[in-house]
Formats: sequence, C-alpha cells, structure tokens
Amino acid sequence: MLGTTPTEFPGGEWEQRYEEALRGVLASGAATDFSSSRHDTGGRIVHRLIRLTPERDRSGMVTSVLAVGRDITELMEQREKIHSLAFFDFVTGLANRALFNDRLAQSITDARWHATQLGVLLLDLDRFKAVNDTLGHNVGDALLREAGARLSRCVRDYDTVARLGGDEFAVLLPEIRDAQSLSGVADKILVAFAEPFLLDGREVAVGASIGIAVYPNDSEDADGLLKFADLAMYAAKHAGGQGFRYYTAEFTIQAHERLRIETELRHAVERRELELYFQPKVTMTDGRLIGSEALLRWKSSAFGMVMPDRFIGIAEDTGLIVDIGAWVLREACAAARAWNAAGVPHKVAVNLSPRQFADGSLEERIAEALSATGCRPEWIELEITESLLLENAERVRGTLEALRAMGFSIAIDDFGTGYSALSYLTNLPIDVLKIDRSFVKDMMSYASKAELVRTIIAMANSLSMHLVAEGVETEEQARFLLDNGCVVGQGYLYGKPMPKHELRVDTGDA
Ligand code: C2E
Ligand code: MG
Ligand code: MG
Repeated sequence: MLGTTPTEFPGGEWEQRYEEALRGVLASGAATDFSSSRHDTGGRIVHRLIRLTPERDRSGMVTSVLAVGRDITELMEQREKIHSLAFFDFVTGLANRALFNDRLAQSITDARWHATQLGVLLLDLDRFKAVNDTLGHNVGDALLREAGARLSRCVRDYDTVARLGGDEFAVLLPEIRDAQSLSGVADKILVAFAEPFLLDGREVAVGASIGIAVYPNDSEDADGLLKFADLAMYAAKHAGGQGFRYYTAEFTIQAHERLRIETELRHAVERRELELYFQPKVTMTDGRLIGSEALLRWKSSAFGMVMPDRFIGIAEDTGLIVDIGAWVLREACAAARAWNAAGVPHKVAVNLSPRQFADGSLEERIAEALSATGCRPEWIELEITESLLLENAERVRGTLEALRAMGFSIAIDDFGTGYSALSYLTNLPIDVLKIDRSFVKDMMSYASKAELVRTIIAMANSLSMHLVAEGVETEEQARFLLDNGCVVGQGYLYGKPMPKHELRVDTGDA
C-alpha cells in the first residue's frame, strides 16, 4: 500500500471524502475532525473520529498531516441509548411522555396552521393492578408490552402511540377527518383488548377504558386535551370499563362536583356531620333481631343528606376514608357495647374499605376503638369486599388473620359480584358470606339467579360458613331463601337503615 493514496487503494466514496479533508488541512493549515461510520468486516457499524493536525517545516509551510483516529463506537451507542431512554419507554419501546408531549405540541401547531382537527386518546387497562399484584411484575411488564403492540396495530403509521406511565397509554391521531371517526379507532382498540391476554401460560381477561378529546373542539392546547381525555377516561372506567367516552363539558362539571364534595368531606368528621344508621339483621324464621349493619350517612351543611354511594368512592380515592373509617369503627363499637351491655346479644357489622387495609394502621385503630368504648371483638363483624382479596393477597391475609385472632368475625360483602377467585374462600379466615342484593332481587324472576343463590348457599354450607341474604324485600324472597337453607336476612322487609335510637334492641320485637 506504500506510495498509494486512499483513493487509489482501496478507493471508494469514503476515501474520496477523506482525501478532500486531508487536502483541506494541507491548504488551510487548520486542524479539523473527520468522523466516519463504516461497516467493519463483521458487518458491525464502527464509528471513528479522526483528528487531522497539520505538520509544518521550519518556514511554517504545511508539509504533512498527522491523522489520529479514535474508535468512538461505544460512545455513540451510549449516546443513542441516552436518547432512547429520554424519549422512549423502557418496557414497551413506545414513545414516552416527553416525546408524546413534543409530538402533540408539534401536531397542534400544524393543525392550527392547516385548520385541521386532531384527536388525543387515553387508554387505561382495566385490570392491570390485579395482574401485577397476583402474577408478579415480570408478567405485568409482559402485559404492558403486549398491550402496546395491540394498540400499535390498531392505528396508522403516522399516529403516535405512547406509554405515559403505569398502565396508561396515549395515542395521538393527527389529521382526522372528523371527531366521529375516532370512535371507529376506539372500537377497533376495544375489540383488540377484548381478546384475552396469554400471560405466563394462562389466559387473562384485561380490558381497557378509553377517553377521547379533540382539537380544537374540546381544547386548543396540549394540557387541556390531555386533561379532558383523562376526565373522559375516568368516566369510561366508572361506567364499568371496556368502553370509551368522548369528553363532554359534563365531565368537567362532575369533576368540580367531586372536588366540592371532597372539600366539604374533609371537615365532615370535625363538624360532626357524620352519623351511623343501623339496619336490622334477623333470623327469617321468626323475625328475631340478632344484629345490625352500620351504614354511614352524611348530613352535610352544604348538600343536605348525602348517601354513601355519592361520597364513599371519593373518600376512598382521596384517602379520607382512613379517618372516616376510624370514626365509623368507634361509633359502631360504642353502639355494640351499649346494646350488649343491656344483656341482648347483638352483633354490629362494619364495612371496611380496601384503602383502610392499605394504610397499615388498621389493627391499631380497631384496637383503639375497642379500648375507647369497652366493646368486645365478638360483638363486631367486619365486612370486606372481594376486590380487597385481589390486591396484595399476602398482606391482606396477614391482617385478616390478625383480626380473626383478636376475635372478630369476617364477612364477604356483596358476594358474587366481584372477581370471584373462589380459592380464597378456603384459605382465608372468612366466617360469613353476604349474598349480594342483586341476586336476591332477581332470583324470583330468573331461574339462573335462583340457581346461583342455591349454589352459593350450598357452597357456604359445605365450607361451614354463615350466610346473610342482603336486600330481602318480600315474603316470597324470604321463603325461597329459608327453603334453600339461608336463615339470616337483611332488607327493607325487616327494616331500613335507621338512627341508633330507633333500632329496638330489647326484647327482639324489631
Ligand atoms: P353494603 O355494605 O352492601 O350495604 C347495603 C346497602 O344496601 C345499604 O345501602 C342499604 O341501605 C341497602 N339496602 C339494604 N336493604 C335493602 C333492600 O331491601 N332494598 C334495597 N334496594 N336496598 C337495601 P347504603 O346505606 O346506601 O350503603 C351503600 C354502600 O356504601 C354499602 O353497601 C357499603 O358498601 C358502603 N358503605 C356504607 N357505609 C360505609 C362505611 O361506614 N364504610 C365503608 N367503607 N363503606 C360504607
Ligand atoms: Mg356492607
Ligand atoms: Mg352489601
């Protein structure tokens, strides 16, 4: 190779550019950098940075050029990785929030210029938390990847699919014909998510909730579009999931309403606006009062009488339920103590929210309620919901066992409506099943519901659990339940929830 120039050997396009650079340094006398990216013999791309420094003779004339090359492949790879970490989601490889925001801002500028519309679609998996908690994080990650892949298959190449965090995904759809065309996309996505996911060798139904906001109808800026798509998604989720909603101003009104309730609710305990009502529980054979369920009522100075369906969810979302729940426990214990001290055995059932378990101070607060009121644990029944058992099963089991060991009995509320993973019935300390009101309501008109009620009763009997039928409103329902082996009932037939002093816990003439 001696005596030949690069263009002479091996020759090529790169060699030409390299020689030009060398000539440039010879002519100008100024040092420069020449970078090159070429495939090596193994086909790998090798990045080099070549520093070209002029060398002069005594008179100052440039006589040669010193070329020192460095392999910067690793540096370049790291730079690329940093770029992808900054703009792409590590788990799914989709765009991340930063890149999504950037593209959204760009698309809004374009849409404004061309007077076109664009859509933002937010998607949240309906049962991600349950999968993540029960099957583990690796399976959770696999679910996210598969969800991202399904989502990407449902949209066009120039739409942006991003994972914003957790189980929340976003799609940016620039250049849509009209807002209506987005429902086609949403439908397609829902169909894709209705297919069960194959995770860890088993099929899992996941489902998705979608919220849609449209530029410029709903908002003209990125923050507004994301916020409104989020409100719409929240509405889709609350409607039961596996569905989509367009943003409407109504959702903003509801969000304000939630906020107003939250603000007032923060002061409900200290302003003594809460009251416990008690609904009788009876043996249906003779109507004898054996206990009651404590049900919360909020006599708000701002809204009047508020029923739990309107504020318990908000109290749970905001964590207020922890303090409210502590108040409920104490009141219920005080009532149980007063009734039992009068000599009539009477068990008071108290509803517990999953949030109270997550807080970690539940056992302590219950113990406090007992000692403050002189109530005994065997006078109290704790009602939990099936959804609790899906979350963090091991920790919940620990708490339940501790509570059981203290002497409380534990009931599953609204049994049959949740995500009934029946295995928990045999390995958790559960004493009572409460047959959900919806089954009792329909069992006289639908054979399938009647069969379901019979099955629940048979199952409880074989597991030696007690039963309570909720929402018994007619003699006919009571008859059917008794005939099939469920003796304890609760419902309007025997009494509505009422203030403490109205419940007659003396001789049993409820
Ligand atoms: P739940 O625990 O399943 O309570 C039974 C609900 O069914 C009560 O509604 C009761 O009034 C209603 N009910 C009882 N019998 C009948 C009947 O024969 N017919 C009909 N149509 N309804 C009947 P309420 O008081 O509005 O409470 C609703 C839910 O709010 C409760 O459902 C419970 O999940 C929750 N809740 C109430 N108080 C508390 C509380 O102190 N803490 C927590 N975490 N949740 C509570
Ligand atoms: Mg209950
Ligand atoms: Mg119930």
